Amino acid sequence: MARIVMKFGGTSMAGIDRIRRVAQIVKQQADAGHEVAVVVSAMAGDTDRLVNFCREASSLYDPAEYDVVVASGEQVTSGLLAIALQSLGAKARSWLGWQMPIRTVEAHSKARIDSIDGEALTAAMQSGEIAIIPGFQGLSEDGRVTTLGRGGSDTSAVAIAAAVKADRCDIYTDVDGVYTTDPRIVTRARKLNKVTFEEMLELASVGAKVLQTRSVGLAMKEGVRIQVLSSFTDENTNWTADDLPGTMIVGEDEMEIEDMERQLITGIAHDKNEAKITLTRVPDKPGAVATIFAPLADAAINVDMIIQNVGREKGETDVTFTVPNVDLDRAMQVLEEAKGKIGFNRLIPDTNVAKISVVGVGMKSHAGVAATMFKALAERGVNIQAITTSEIKVSVLIEEDYTELALRVLHTAYGLDAEDAA
Ligand code: ADP
Ligand code: ASP
Ligand code: MG
Repeated sequence: MARIVMKFGGTSMAGIDRIRRVAQIVKQQADAGHEVAVVVSAMAGDTDRLVNFCREASSLYDPAEYDVVVASGEQVTSGLLAIALQSLGAKARSWLGWQMPIRTVEAHSKARIDSIDGEALTAAMQSGEIAIIPGFQGLSEDGRVTTLGRGGSDTSAVAIAAAVKADRCDIYTDVDGVYTTDPRIVTRARKLNKVTFEEMLELASVGAKVLQTRSVGLAMKEGVRIQVLSSFTDENTNWTADDLPGTMIVGEDEMEIEDMERQLITGIAHDKNEAKITLTRVPDKPGAVATIFAPLADAAINVDMIIQNVGREKGETDVTFTVPNVDLDRAMQVLEEAKGKIGFNRLIPDTNVAKISVVGVGMKSHAGVAATMFKALAERGVNIQAITTSEIKVSVLIEEDYTELALRVLHTAYGLDAEDAA
């Protein structure tokens, strides 16, 4: 007997038929004698729809009221899943964020979980009741509804798994595991049986949206065992206990040496949510770069890739960097306002860019990973506009139109293609 937290994403919950299938999957685990808590997302597309309503109502909406609106999607699906489970004869009830409660801190629309009172939930699970928790939502210090940022239900699931000391946190989605790259783009992508926390954290942070970055960081810190698997299975599938066929996220110590040695690169991710800004003819002198990035930091805008180009004549240089797409307008405004202080000539935005990243712990002990990347892209005429690296990652910025080509070319270049792929 195990204690399991199961999380179902938006496509798994999209409509009553899908919810009925989820109820069957959940009931199978409960019938096998496990204690079960379920974390659900809103139906696919619903959160986008709710976000758009807020934007329509006012471009300068109150984030606290935004949270009231967008948290509702998960409230609907948690109630519906409880009803579907009850109709299968299971004992089930919903536990909203404020009822548990899931206490959060920091800003509305991007709150962080501070603590979860798992006592009542654990008691309910022990009594054989299936607990259903809407993901994404929490309760602020002053008693208001909060949400955890897009994709946050993964983080809710991991936090609840930690709070009830679950043996496993199973993340059910619309693909059957973590692949070497997005399987919806590269058909030759291969499913990975195991990925280390460190690699998954890096992959998620550079755009592999299969798990929200924060959920992986939290699982690493709390020692929660995560498995990614598909809810799109037929009714004859009967999984119980530990024979689930997805991808396990594990510590490096659980990784077999052969797994780590075999592949230099574990995965490749892409991110189309960054925009590039270039400032031309910035004075090439000490302190100049600080005048650019200080006002951006004050406006809480995260800068990712940065390049300072070779100085021109007359002591001037161009500076290029990337910011999240959603912050582009604000970044442009902040820089325009600081123009006098910075002393640039032109401010050029470009949203037609994508970041492609290769990730792998094998990189720590091998040279030539970046060279392989640059060569493979050059051979296909893909121009690199910026580069960043970490101990286990190399990222390049390219023109967005080349995203799919770059993913395919790099997948082949690093020997990741599935053997049986067409
Ligand atoms: P959910 O609604 O279940 O949370 P998401 O859409 O957030 O699902 O995440 C699942 C999607 O992540 C997949 O449909 C897939 O297109 C995408 N994805 C991107 N990179 C990867 C990867 N390396 N492995 C698996 N899926 C990936
Ligand atoms: N429904 C929320 C979103 O779409 C949270 C989630 O599904 O993880 O971002
Ligand atoms: Mg998701």
